[in-house]
Amino acid sequence: MFVTKTISEIRNIVNANKKTGKKIGFVPTMGYLHEGHCSLITKAREENDFVTVSIFVNPTQFGPNEDFAVYPKDFEKDKQLCLKAGTDLIFYPSIEELYPSTPFTHIDVEKLTNIMCGVFRPGHFRGVATIVCKLFNIIQPDRAYFGEKDAQQLAVIQRMVEDLNFPIDIVPVPTVRDKDGVAMSSRNSYLSRKERQAASVLIKSLVLAKKMIETGERTADAIHRAMKEFIDKEPMANLEYISITTKEGLQPIQKLSGYILIALAIKIGNTRLIDNMSFNIKLL
Ligand code: AMP
Repeated sequence: MFVTKTISEIRNIVNANKKTGKKIGFVPTMGYLHEGHCSLITKAREENDFVTVSIFVNPTQFGPNEDFAVYPKDFEKDKQLCLKAGTDLIFYPSIEELYPSTPFTHIDVEKLTNIMCGVFRPGHFRGVATIVCKLFNIIQPDRAYFGEKDAQQLAVIQRMVEDLNFPIDIVPVPTVRDKDGVAMSSRNSYLSRKERQAASVLIKSLVLAKKMIETGERTADAIHRAMKEFIDKEPMANLEYISITTKEGLQPIQKLSGYILIALAIKIGNTRLIDNMSFNIKLL
């Protein structure tokens, strides 16, 4: 496994592999890797001949009062996990390598970025779409892997790739959860033991929604109300939003039908946590 910090070197290595007909899989991350990230790398390994993982805490996707300065890092552990999951090349650039000067150009995936998490994190998805676009241009992979845990991010990237004709397949990967159902996240490391226990309110509220849907509930308002009441009972959790939308296009819905997404965000102390579940109503 190679590690490179420069754009010129990663371009050379990837190009040399492409020339021999190898398919390139790419997994963008912010590091502090866990089993969730590893499942993306494992899938990339299964489906491609050469797997590259980027580790970059992208400053432009953090708001001024967010956790950029304290975002957890452990490059040595990340390297071990990358190796174990089958990575060929880690791209580990500095901020200066990717942003040598203040950029004038940004990617705004309108309509998908001013809803849900975008309301609470203005500019976040612009930062995400722009860095992913840059990484796609640098690495030029055949396939790129994104976790369903970040459902809105996935929708934004899928739309960007469609709108801008990137010749890249976006592959969604299911959410990996801890034993108690809490979605794995680098940010879980911020939680105290009590806060970590309280974090299970996210998955429990989604399971409540699932049970309501399975027993015939089809009204978004009723599900929203029940989830909110449930979350409000957890004193450590502050609800930011619950959204019930179409899975594709993230359009709000009243009556549940077809493929739908239920997504939510809460804050526990200063830690912001998100989760979601999707359903094919026809199958229920
Ligand atoms: P991050 O390092 O948090 O930016 O995440 C990098 C990639 O890993 C994104 O595509 C995430 O959606 C994905 N990811 C993060 N946590 C999980 C998880 N628990 N299960 C599956 N994918 C995840």
